[in-house]
Amino acid sequence: MVCAECKTQSAVTIRPSTRERLCKACFTTAIESTVHETLQQENILDGVKVLALGVSGGKDSTVLAHIMNQLKQKHKYNIELKLLCMDEGIKGYRDKAIEVVKQNEKDLNIPLTILSYKEEFSYTMDEIVAKKGTKRSCTYCGVLRRSSLEEAAKRVNADMVATGHNADDTAETVLMNYLRGDIRRLYRCTEAVTPKQANSTIESGTEKELSINNLSNSTIRRCKPLLRVYEKEIVLYAFYNALPYFSTECSYSVDSFRGVVRTYIKALERETPQAIKRIIKAGDIFRSAAGDNTFTQGGGTFAKCKTCGKSCAATKTSKSPDTQQCSVCVLLNGL
Ligand code: SF4
Ligand code: ZN
Repeated sequence: MVCAECKTQSAVTIRPSTRERLCKACFTTAIESTVHETLQQENILDGVKVLALGVSGGKDSTVLAHIMNQLKQKHKYNIELKLLCMDEGIKGYRDKAIEVVKQNEKDLNIPLTILSYKEEFSYTMDEIVAKKGTKRSCTYCGVLRRSSLEEAAKRVNADMVATGHNADDTAETVLMNYLRGDIRRLYRCTEAVTPKQANSTIESGTEKELSINNLSNSTIRRCKPLLRVYEKEIVLYAFYNALPYFSTECSYSVDSFRGVVRTYIKALERETPQAIKRIIKAGDIFRSAAGDNTFTQGGGTFAKCKTCGKSCAATKTSKSPDTQQCSVCVLLNGL
C-alpha cells in the first residue's frame, strides 16, 4: 500500500488519529506539523525568548524535546530551548530515567538543569512514602513537581515551560475533573497554554479551602505543545525516529486516581475508537461555554506563603485561619 501523502513510498503505519496510511517520513512530518499548528493557532510562542522543556526521560517529554528541536530549526523559531528535569528521589525509577535525560541533552545539544526534591524540600519521594505510605503519593509528588519546575524555570530565566502532556492525558484530566466536581479546572483543562496571570495578592480575609486542586501556584506560563497528539502516535514517533526513552512505570503510581481513569478510557476506546477525541471535544465545549467567567478563570490571585515566602496560590486552612500557606508547605508540614 502506497503512502497517502507522498504517493511514492510504501505506507508502514496507519496514523491513529486520522486513519491515514503513511510512510515513515510522512508520519513523522504529520506529527511535527500537528505540533507546529498547535503552537501557531494558539500563538503559544508569542513573546517567548526562553522556552524550558520539562523532561523526565519518558516517551512524551523525550518526543516533545525532539520535536521542538526539529521545529525550531525547520521554522526558525526565535527561541532558546532549555531542558529541566525534576529528580523526585525514587530509587530504581527516576535515577534510571535521568540517564536517558542526559542522553537527550547530548543528542539535542540543549542545556539541562536537574533539580532534586531533596535539595528543594529536604525530602525525597522515597522518604515521603516511608513516612506516609504510598496512598496519595502522586498528590505529594505532583504538588512538589509544580513548585520545583517553577523554581528551575526561574533559574534558567525561562518565559514559559512546555510539558509533554498529550491528547490521552488531556482526556484523562477532563474526566478526572468532572468526577471530582472540580468545575474550575474542568473549564480550563483543554487549554494549550495557561493564561497570563496577574501577580496580585489574595485579599486578607479571603476564605479558601485547602485543596491540591486549588489554583496553580505557577507564575510562569505553561504550555502543552503535544495536546493534539495521541499517545499511540507518540510511541510510533519515538519508534520511527529511534528515540531512547525510559518506559518503566513508577512503583508509587498504583494508587493514583489518574491510573483508574486511564484504564477506564482505554476500555472506552475499545468500544468507541473516537473516545479520546470526544472527551477532549466535551472539554473544549465546557471551555468555550465558560467564556470570561472569573470563577472559572481562577481569578489569577497570588500571595506570599507565610512559611516558605514563595509566591503561591496560598490557602487559608480552616485549622489555622491566620496562616496563609502554599500547598507545598501544607503537605510537608503534615508529614
Ligand atoms: Fe510521582 Fe506519582 Fe509520577 Fe511516581 S507516578 S513519579 S509518585 S506523580
Ligand atoms: Zn510555602
